Amino acid sequence: MDFESLSADLRALQQRALDEASAAPDPESLELLQIRYLSKKGEITTVLRGIGALPPGDRPRVGAIANGVSEAVKAALGRREAELHAEVQTLRLASERVDVTLPGRPRARGTLHPIPETAACIAEVFGQFGFVVYEGPEVEDDLTNFQMLNIPPDHPARDLWDTLYVDIPGHLLRTHTSPGQIRVMQSTRPPIRALLPGRCFRYEAVDASHGFEFFQVEGLMVDEGTSLADLKGLLDEFAHALFGPRKTRFRPGYYPFTEPSVAFDVECLVCGGVGCPACSRTGWMTILGAGMVHPVVLQYGGIDPERYQGFAFGMGVERIANLRHAVPDLRYYLENDLRFLEQFR
Ligand SMILES: [Zn+2]
Repeated sequence: MDFESLSADLRALQQRALDEASAAPDPESLELLQIRYLSKKGEITTVLRGIGALPPGDRPRVGAIANGVSEAVKAALGRREAELHAEVQTLRLASERVDVTLPGRPRARGTLHPIPETAACIAEVFGQFGFVVYEGPEVEDDLTNFQMLNIPPDHPARDLWDTLYVDIPGHLLRTHTSPGQIRVMQSTRPPIRALLPGRCFRYEAVDASHGFEFFQVEGLMVDEGTSLADLKGLLDEFAHALFGPRKTRFRPGYYPFTEPSVAFDVECLVCGGVGCPACSRTGWMTILGAGMVHPVVLQYGGIDPERYQGFAFGMGVERIANLRHAVPDLRYYLENDLRFLEQFR
């Protein structure tokens, strides 16, 4: 081995490496070329093993040539790497290109279910008169659900409520939101203006106008000098807010926890008072029940009935929603059928 043939080998090796580098199809091939030519066990190192056979004067020259080859190969690999990177970028840009002129894909927007929406609407009207929303428990005790509302265990009024009992002695699924009145009175002092929306349960056969699960909104006002006239004025405002200006009336009603008790009617929303099948030809539609809080109930709430009076009212949210949206069957509310629900956008 002499200087001439060694340096010729190195130059041939360089040419081969440069050709291969520029033809490398991907980064992995470049990696292999890097190992093959430039690593400690690479081809350049192998060629340099022959350097020991050269006269000492020639060795630095061969070393210099070998360094030059190394640099050239390194530079070629780097160039090709940059090229490959640019190609990948170009391909990605082409494949991920966004056509900003395409029309957008609108997302379906959710809306409130008609029952909570109606409950919120009711709360908004009464909120304007200073009523604050409270919540009571769905599993209630017999004492609060019945006895403190003037319905003792053997009272015939219990027949009005077919009750679902739970496995805890003395407890049941509340049959109305009225026990919330007791809880509010026991936890706050007059003047009280409370609104109690919530889910209630009764053991009912399900049909178009009955469910075993339904929603009520209860209202309670307790203050000095509260009268039936205040109740009438408030409920008139409520009916007007929901159904527009219409005639209203009180009819005698019966609830054990109010005295006197009334039913609150509005002029039929369908026929305007003339009489039609929707109002059983009476010209009126009952929207809620109400009355002056019974003194016994005030006492159970820890409030002196000699000093304070109160009124309460309670309505079925489904009933109000039916009237607002002309829904004929309240089973629709619980079936989660999107064809029904999407009508309330
Ligand atoms: Zn009518």
